[in-house]
Amino acid sequence: MTNNHEKLLYNVREPIVCETCFKEYKDLDNPDIALRDYVKVDVGFTRIGIQVWCQRHEKNICHIDFGGNRPPADFRCLEKS
Ligand SMILES: [Zn+2]
Repeated sequence: MTNNHEKLLYNVREPIVCETCFKEYKDLDNPDIALRDYVKVDVGFTRIGIQVWCQRHEKNICHIDFGGNRPPADFRCLEKS
């Protein structure tokens, strides 16, 4: 990281996507929206970590267990000028 704002930019390398949503999206003939707009998720802290939940299918996509640790998190954001 070159500066401490680097991590506030878009750093996603591998999107976490609901497999069912992804299959449905691939089967659309002419999707008029991007996959990122098709997928609807809740993301939030749980008792053990962070969960990504599919709103469309009401199922778990990913539940990250912090294993009792409290990893550093940055909730600041950069505003576009
Ligand atoms: Zn889904």
